[in-house]
Amino acid sequence: MKLPFKVDLNNKVVVITGAGGVICSHLAKAVAACGAKVALLDLHKEAAQSHADVIVSEGGIAKGFEANVLDKASLIKCHEEVLKEFGPCDILINGAGGNNPKATTDNEYAELEDSKKELKTFFDLDQSGVEFVFNLNFIGTLLPTQVFAEDMIGKKDCSVLNISSMNAYTPLTKIPAYSGAKAAVSNFTQWLAVHFSHIGIRVNAIAPGFFSTKQNEKLLWNPDGTPTARTGKILAATPMGKFGVVDDLVGATLFLVSPEAASFVTGVCIPIDGGFSSYSGV
Ligand code: NAD
Repeated sequence: MKLPFKVDLNNKVVVITGAGGVICSHLAKAVAACGAKVALLDLHKEAAQSHADVIVSEGGIAKGFEANVLDKASLIKCHEEVLKEFGPCDILINGAGGNNPKATTDNEYAELEDSKKELKTFFDLDQSGVEFVFNLNFIGTLLPTQVFAEDMIGKKDCSVLNISSMNAYTPLTKIPAYSGAKAAVSNFTQWLAVHFSHIGIRVNAIAPGFFSTKQNEKLLWNPDGTPTARTGKILAATPMGKFGVVDDLVGATLFLVSPEAASFVTGVCIPIDGGFSSYSGV
């Protein structure tokens, strides 16, 4: 894999949740190319393993593991497996996350005549859907940190990297649970950075802008492949005028997890968004 620059992650054990997915499988390949031993965790072990196989075929060290970030017992079991295979975790990337249609309103704005239409309004949002999305993103960041960051106590050069979102700065329409949960992830990043500061564990986040992936494909593309109206709005609100590609996330990730490059950096969330979070629309 072609890296923007290399950092030294030799002998580091990097644990990545959500590594069966689009973004985190790519980040797994990037840290592996810097010498790390990479544990790719996912609810779907086969997905994680297929990416681990690619890393191994390119000369890297990686293995897929099954773990549910919402289930501490599953994480503890996975932790034992990772310890046996690679040793204690040095760097944790909390990437598992996502939205769910049950926590998404049909319309951007409530209108007076909504009750006469077949619509999923704010008033119809399903509590279990809202809880699922909130938990997946927030609890799904907290629990793996409890399980894997304990390995980092008393070691040098360890860090946690969370994945936030544009929603953490200003909520996007339609997705209140995902927006609130990612705001919680950014807030937790700062809280944990302070909490861990005396024991030398750095905690940071990246906030990807708009990337077209499995998670958001129904919001961005019509079934016939044409862009939705939302896609038009996103691109109009992104000064650089395009979606990001996963390669765009690699530089900030390597910088933040590198003990040399980011030795005094903790509690930051770097937007990687083509200017979206800076643009007022005018
Ligand atoms: P993705 O859907 O491709 O990958 C998410 C992965 O998480 C999947 O492989 C899924 O199986 C796994 N997962 C889901 N629930 C899990 C659980 N309970 N336990 C373990 N694994 C679980 O999504 P992605 O686009 O690669 O997103 C990765 C991260 O980046 C997410 O936190 C997402 O919220 C965030 N993000 C994505 C975008 C974007 O535009 N795609 C933008 C900002 C932030």
